[in-house]
Amino acid sequence: MRFFGFRGGVHPPENKLQTENAPVEVLKAPKMIYVALLQHIGSPLDPLVKIGDKVLKGQKIADSQAFMSSPIHSPVSGTVKKIEQHVFPLMGRINTVIIENDEQDTWAELPKIENWETADKKDLLAMIREKGIVGIGGASFPTHIKLNPPADTKIDTLLLNGAECEPYLNSDNRLMLEHPEKIIKGIQIIKKILGVETAIVGIEENKPQAIASMQKAAEGTGIEIAPLKTKYPQGGEKQLIKAVLDRQVPSGKLPSAVGVVVQNTGTAAAIYDGIVNGIPLIEKVVTVSGKGIANPKNVKVAIGTPFSYLLDHCGVNREIVDKLVMGGPMMGMAQFSEEAPVIKGTSGLLALTKEETNPYKPKSCIGCAKCVDACPMGLEPLMFARLAAFEQWDKIGAYNLMDCIECGSCAYICPANRPLTEAIKIGKAKLRAMKKK
Ligand code: SF4
Ligand code: SF4
Repeated sequence: MRFFGFRGGVHPPENKLQTENAPVEVLKAPKMIYVALLQHIGSPLDPLVKIGDKVLKGQKIADSQAFMSSPIHSPVSGTVKKIEQHVFPLMGRINTVIIENDEQDTWAELPKIENWETADKKDLLAMIREKGIVGIGGASFPTHIKLNPPADTKIDTLLLNGAECEPYLNSDNRLMLEHPEKIIKGIQIIKKILGVETAIVGIEENKPQAIASMQKAAEGTGIEIAPLKTKYPQGGEKQLIKAVLDRQVPSGKLPSAVGVVVQNTGTAAAIYDGIVNGIPLIEKVVTVSGKGIANPKNVKVAIGTPFSYLLDHCGVNREIVDKLVMGGPMMGMAQFSEEAPVIKGTSGLLALTKEETNPYKPKSCIGCAKCVDACPMGLEPLMFARLAAFEQWDKIGAYNLMDCIECGSCAYICPANRPLTEAIKIGKAKLRAMKKK
């Protein structure tokens, strides 16, 4: 087993059993689809369609000239009914293309590159952009940019993140079990683009079936499968690099500083589908779980499907739901409306009861330093909360706040229930605003 360890981290209850053995169910797209015009880190997109236009499944419907952008495509065939502000799962409201599904599934023409082995790196990257592929582990960084590091950066290793360390989630796990060959072929395409020989897939040992399935698919390819000891937040890029390769990414630097590019296993599968089959990123596997759900499932859904549709399909009991979260319980985003749609970064939807959330009121800090021990980035979370309480934003930066990966380990471990993650998020926003001035 590869595990050089990383500092800090916690062991929250895994809660994966509920959906671990549930095969991915393909869910019929709903009548109305809400495609938000921002599905990646970067600039919002301009619509390429107008109200009343007929669209085909897989047709590009929005793009931008901005460097940090990635286009989006229609997940269904139908008619554009509205383009207006709609609830967005990451913040407030955002411009959204609302499409009425004609339920005919009429596909657009799908350009592809079947002979990727002999294709030019430039053409492969252009096709990855064209298919709207972004990191689907949650961060949604445009993949064509991540796979094109500056020429003076020497990359020697491709590291695949199959850790899926967040409790409850099984979407990557099921993909590794059900479609390992797509992931392996996607990895081979990425290796060609980066020009690297070494590719390693890190998977936590609590997914033995996924490890076996990936090992079988990787036979004879030279791609290594590395089982890892289970520890949260192993899926953080810097923690994964330390655990698998024993390399330390310096503060404020990217993985490329130590010769590594990290990609999610699901993104590798999306690259294969985009390049070889021509299919843009229009669907997502989502784990729907939590005690508020009668039938927890892994479902493949169209991007733009409202959360309410997913919740109803899985038998939500709204009476007992205390909190709705997109993503995992540690790093996910609390949702204020079920009408928010699935986006490319949605890997889970959790309907949590009071029993599963933390109902306790914060108390005074007792200075136990448990948060410092748990922090995988070597930070002092108690100082963030203290300085935030006195609004001393000018001092907070000196504690390397911007290195925080918002993993929530500090808040999870705190016996006084201090709102550490909230203080961090506010502090980061204040620092960014101060830099702009
Ligand atoms: S874990 Fe909580 S109580 Fe302990 S030092 Fe950190 S903030 Fe204070
Ligand atoms: S300070 Fe940031 S990186 Fe450290 S444990 Fe808290 S949330 Fe995680």
